[in-house]
Amino acid sequence: MRRIAVVTSGGDSPGMNAAVRAVVRACDAAGVPVVGVEGGFAGLVDGRLRPLDARSVSGILQRPGTLLGTGRCPAFRSSEARREGGKHLAVAEVDGLVVIGGVGSLRGAEALSRETPVRVAGVPGTIDNDVGGTDWSLGLDSAVNSALTAIDQIRDSASSDGRVFLVEVAGRHAGWVSLLAGLTGGASHVVVPERAVDLAALRADVRGAFDRGKAFCLVVVAEGTRPGGVYELAERLDAELDDVETRVTVLGQLQRGAAPTMRDRLLGSVLGDAAVDALVDGEDRVLLGERAGRVVRVPLSRAWTAPATLSADLEALMARLAR
Ligand code: ADP
Repeated sequence: MRRIAVVTSGGDSPGMNAAVRAVVRACDAAGVPVVGVEGGFAGLVDGRLRPLDARSVSGILQRPGTLLGTGRCPAFRSSEARREGGKHLAVAEVDGLVVIGGVGSLRGAEALSRETPVRVAGVPGTIDNDVGGTDWSLGLDSAVNSALTAIDQIRDSASSDGRVFLVEVAGRHAGWVSLLAGLTGGASHVVVPERAVDLAALRADVRGAFDRGKAFCLVVVAEGTRPGGVYELAERLDAELDDVETRVTVLGQLQRGAAPTMRDRLLGSVLGDAAVDALVDGEDRVLLGERAGRVVRVPLSRAWTAPATLSADLEALMARLAR
């Protein structure tokens, strides 16, 4: 292995910095030079590579976002752009690339390695937690904890009775943040994008919460709610239950800006280190993940061919405890 490169791509998620740091330090420990690609796949296409050493990743563990910068690069879907990126890697004598990102980024990594000599290892990084082949992706834990901080404040400020607080959290296609924030934040109902809104069930849960003596009621809604969004849901609820008042809070970008939690720092550290290990071992198109508490190497394509589904057990627990 002459040299390893590391890139963060797609939406940023807390814990990416821990993974970048781990890649750089694991390379240092293995005696393999390492370069960072700036600004996601766009930086790869433009050849924005810079050498990194153990000191250049100091002081980033606690920071959200990513030292290297990230972003979307629609051009990378074309093989011309990928070949351009491959040329820059060849000139820099890079034999292995660690890609930290969501499903889109991992697909890009797979395509790159099929068309160029570079070998790739993927680290799942997305607050949506929708990458197959791993139980957890970087950022979910931090996003949920940041949603909980907001939820706890809403709860503490709920001064008058009879209010329904609808809190919109991340999750365009996957309901992990919604389910976990709802379950651990004491919600009466969660809405996830995997299923269309069941207004009758929502109404029954809200009614039930007040009938059982709750002073207020919390509903956690994923941003990918169909049909309509959280505001439409609030309007429909308002129209159907005239003795309650709804309040909407949209958390949006706040969830990405949180300091990474211990779990995300640990996951980033473990998987970044494992990615270097896998490349040094000669692996290619491999995804590093965590299954049942163990680090695993699985084929990269598992990320999209076996998408992570929401836990039915946790959904059932949520329903049982929301009383
Ligand atoms: P995420 O990695 O968080 O899922 P995106 O879906 O936006 O985010 O993907 C990030 C980048 O990965 C895209 O901007 C594009 O450069 C690249 N990408 C996404 N899908 C593909 C694909 N099917 N083939 C090649 N590259 C892709």
